[in-house]
Amino acid sequence: MKTYLNTINGKAVGSDKTFESINPATGEAIGRVPISTKEQVAEAVAAARAAQPAWAARPDAERKALMMKTAEIIKANSAYLAEWVTREQGKPLGGVGPDQVPGARFEVWGCEAWTQVPASLDLPVEVVFEDATRRDEVHRKPFGVIGAIAPWNWPLLIAIWQIIPSIRAGNTVVIKPSEYTSIGTLELVRLISAALPPGVVNTVSGAGEVGSWLVSDPRLDKIMFTGSARTGAKVAEAAAKNVIPVTLELGGNDAAIMLPDADPKAMAMGLFWGAFINMGQTCAAAKRLYVPENLYEPTVQALKEIAQAMPMGDGMKEGTVMGPIQNKMQYDKVVDLVESAKSEGGTIVCGGTAPGGPGYFYPLTLVTGLKDGNRLVDEEQFGPVLPIIKYRDVEEAIASANRLDAGLGASVWSADTAKAAEVAGRIHAGTVWINQHGMIHPMVPFGGAKGSGYGVEFGVEGLKAVTRPQVISIKK
Ligand code: NDP
Repeated sequence: MKTYLNTINGKAVGSDKTFESINPATGEAIGRVPISTKEQVAEAVAAARAAQPAWAARPDAERKALMMKTAEIIKANSAYLAEWVTREQGKPLGGVGPDQVPGARFEVWGCEAWTQVPASLDLPVEVVFEDATRRDEVHRKPFGVIGAIAPWNWPLLIAIWQIIPSIRAGNTVVIKPSEYTSIGTLELVRLISAALPPGVVNTVSGAGEVGSWLVSDPRLDKIMFTGSARTGAKVAEAAAKNVIPVTLELGGNDAAIMLPDADPKAMAMGLFWGAFINMGQTCAAAKRLYVPENLYEPTVQALKEIAQAMPMGDGMKEGTVMGPIQNKMQYDKVVDLVESAKSEGGTIVCGGTAPGGPGYFYPLTLVTGLKDGNRLVDEEQFGPVLPIIKYRDVEEAIASANRLDAGLGASVWSADTAKAAEVAGRIHAGTVWINQHGMIHPMVPFGGAKGSGYGVEFGVEGLKAVTRPQVISIKK
């Protein structure tokens, strides 16, 4: 079986110790991944450190052009990369575009888009004060070396979110992929490195200690982490010890609220994908749906019809729309939450029983009859299960949306967008979508509130977040 390699200082680097990456649709091993040593993590940070001044000193236009080249490399290798996403992460290949399945091809297309957009953005000098005596300018400077830890749900796209704005702004990067989905990310970085000077982007794969070695390296200048709140808190602690900033994207428990004037039939498909994109393994997916009494039955029925019609299977087969859950840990979590919903009085509308057999397949599951306080409502399921909760008045739904220590996204569904916007403004979340959910865009800042983390990614704000302001103050 082939061993895939890290990229450190532009060179392919292996390790004496490796582990197998598993295809979640079949349970088969699909390649070997190096377990980086502590010395290799230190080497990667040293390489990033050494490469950074020259990278930052390049004319802006040159850095932009190199990044456009990385986008071309992604495009030229999109079929290869999409296959890795499907075989390793599980999401079906699917198509690209708004009417297609948001699968692996969509993920790789997203990598291209999220490379081109930051490459085309600028952070011009801002004159923040000027009078007859002085002129004060704010310049944006790269932090230096960024340490990044990427998750397994969108393994290439989220790696790109961390890498591309960082290097656009003149930083260099050391990134650790999730142990569940390392190969795709290692291959992505190997490929784009052909367009970049050695040391600008480096990878360190592994499991167990590699992440903590990376984030505790005192030569890092900023950390970007996407993953669980528990690990995020440890990352923030490591960053605090070295007095460096951190962007934390820690998932959430997004509420979707239907207002009484919403049309369940017309909105069902949007609600469905808002909740079940990537088998629900998405940080900003709708994870609890609040529906008024008058719309409850038709909404449940419309979602049930869609869920039952979605073909599930090995995503390498064209026409598959839903894949497996990505790993055993997540599968067990989903099974546990559904079983606890049953024991707490929930009614399974569809799904709800693990089929067994090879792969971590779990049916799309809708649960009614639950209320706030039940585990499936209060805990992030991060899987293909949606609790649908009945509410009496809108105030109650707003209070429900706000009662948890999570605030990444939320959505409000209504025929009256002005009324929906009023409700949206009262929800404590980084983004509140109206009549859509999870519709991120490379120009629109994205980040969490409360326990969902802090800092933003994407757009001009996201680019600013990988720079520090420097004031140049001139006496006239
Ligand atoms: P974690 O959030 O625990 O992240 C695991 C990654 O963090 C690995 O790369 C690991 O590498 C690294 N890591 C672990 N401990 C530390 C540490 N002390 N310092 C620095 N890095 C560390 O994710 P899991 O994969 O275990 O998933 C757990 C839950 O996270 C899921 O059930 C889901 O709810 C949530 N999640 C949220 C995502 C989101 O988009 N926000 C994405 C994926 C998961 P190493 O072991 O080598 O240190």
